[in-house]
Amino acid sequence: MAERKVRVRFAPSPTGPLHIGGVRTALYNYLFARQHGGDFIFRIEDTDSNRFVPGAEQYILESFKWLGVTFDEGVSFGGNYGPYRQSERRDIYKKYVQVLLDNGKAYIAFDTPQELEAKRTEIANFQYDASTRLQMRNSLVMPKEEVEALIAEGKQYVVRFRIEPNEEVHVHDLIRGEVVINSSVLDDKVLYKSADQLPTYHLANIVDDHLMEVSHVIRGEEWLPSAPLHVLLYRAFGWEESMPQFAHLPLLLKPEGNGKLSKRDGDRLGFPVFPLEWHDPKSGEISSGYREAGYLPEAVINFLALLGWNPGNDQELMSMDELIQLFSLDHCSKAGAKFDYKKGTWFNHEYILRKSDEELAQLFKPVLTAQGVNPADYSDLYLTKVVSLVKGRVNFIKELWDHSRFFFKAPESYAEKDVKKRWSAETPAIMEELIALIEDLESFESKAAEEQVIGWITAKGYHMGNVMNAFRLAVVGECKGPHMFDITELLGKEETIRRIREAVCAISVM
Ligand code: GLU
Repeated sequence: MAERKVRVRFAPSPTGPLHIGGVRTALYNYLFARQHGGDFIFRIEDTDSNRFVPGAEQYILESFKWLGVTFDEGVSFGGNYGPYRQSERRDIYKKYVQVLLDNGKAYIAFDTPQELEAKRTEIANFQYDASTRLQMRNSLVMPKEEVEALIAEGKQYVVRFRIEPNEEVHVHDLIRGEVVINSSVLDDKVLYKSADQLPTYHLANIVDDHLMEVSHVIRGEEWLPSAPLHVLLYRAFGWEESMPQFAHLPLLLKPEGNGKLSKRDGDRLGFPVFPLEWHDPKSGEISSGYREAGYLPEAVINFLALLGWNPGNDQELMSMDELIQLFSLDHCSKAGAKFDYKKGTWFNHEYILRKSDEELAQLFKPVLTAQGVNPADYSDLYLTKVVSLVKGRVNFIKELWDHSRFFFKAPESYAEKDVKKRWSAETPAIMEELIALIEDLESFESKAAEEQVIGWITAKGYHMGNVMNAFRLAVVGECKGPHMFDITELLGKEETIRRIREAVCAISVM
C-alpha cells in the first residue's frame, strides 16, 4: 500500500477553556504533522449544544497563536474539506446515518427517557445491547409502517448502532500496542438524535476523520475506551482500508499523589492549568493562564513536549524546530506523566537566559511601567545592562523588578537586620572617606573602581566585609544584589555619592 499522506487533526469541543492536557495533545499532533510534511487540521466538535460555551473557540485559537502552534486548515484557516465546524455539517451526518440504517448496521429507537429508566430499575446493570434490544421500542421489533407513522407524527427518536455481540475488536495503538476487547461489553451507542437533528460525538468524529482523510488520530487516553466502537463504525461503513492509526497519549497526573491533574491541583499549588487566563462567561470566575502568569511560550512548549515523551536521551532543552526533528510516537510513554510544574518554572528560567539582553529589556518595560517607572526615562542600553546583571536570578520577567528596583529608585529604607550587622558608630566616618575617594576616581568603570576601593580598604586595615556591606546597604538598601561595582558603574558617580550621603543621614538618626 502506498504511504498515506500524514493528515492529523486537533478536534476540541468548545465547552470552556482549553486544558493544558489538550494543549499537549495538539502539540504532539503538530510535531507529528510537521515532521512528516503533513497537514494539521483544526476541527470544532460542537454537536453537543448543551455544553457549548461562547468564546471558547476564540480562546483556543488565541492560545495556539501565542504558543506558535500553527494549523494548515480548519475553522478560521479554510481548506478543501470544510466546513470544519461540526454544527455546520448536519446534512453530511444525516446522509451517513441513513447509510447505516439502510445497510442494517443501525436502527431507530423510540424509547423515552422514562421507559429507559423503568428498564434500568427492572434489570440490574441494564445495557441497551443485543441481549436487551428486542425488548425495547425500536425499528428492530416494530413493523416498518409503525416506525414511519411515528416519525411522520413527529415522535422523537434516536438512531442506535447495532453492535454484534461476542466479537473480538482489535485496536492497534501506536503507543499501547494491541488492545483487544469483546464487543459484548459495548452498548448500542446513540449515533443521532432527532431532537436536535445532530449526530453524537462518535458518529461525527468518525465521519469527519474519514472525509477529511485523517491518517492518524493522536489524542488523550480518555478516548481509548471509545476506540473499539470507532473501529466497529469504520467497519460498518466499509472504511477499514482508510481507518486512521490510533495513538492514545498518557494521562497528565497530579504533581503529587495519584490521579488525574485537575484545576484544583493548580489552585492549591499555585500554577495555571490553562494556556491563557480564562474569564468564565457564566460565573465570572477568572482562572489563571500561563501567558498572564509570565511564562514564555517557548518554555511552555518545551515543558509540555516532555510530559509523556522523551527524545531517547536526557536532553531537556529543545526548540520547536528540534522537537519537530526529534519527536516520535515510539518514545511516548504508556504510563501517566506527572505534572511537575516546578520543572515548568525551571524551563522558563532557562528560556529567559536564552533570550538576548536587548529582548529582555523590551519585555521588562511593561513591568517597569506597572511599577510606576517610566521606561522612556532610561536608555535601552541602560535597561539592557540592568537585565544582564540580574536575569540569572529570576524565573519570570516580572521578577526582574525585585532584583533591580534600586537601579530606578534610591532606597527609601534600609534593611534592619543588615543595619544592625553592618552599620556601626564608625561607619559614617568611613563612608565619608569613601565618598572622598570616589570623588577623586578617574574612572568609575567597575573593575577600575573596584581596584581602588579594595586597595583603600586594605591599606586602611578596615574590615572588608563590613565596609563593603555598609557601602551596599547605602546604595541598594539591603545587603544583596549583583556585583557592587557593576551596580555603581551603572548608577554613576554622582548618584552613588548621593546615596551614600543619604544613608549616612538616614541611618544615623534611626
Ligand atoms: N471532541 C473530542 C475532544 O474534545 C475529540 C476527541 C478526539 O480527538 O477524537 O477532545
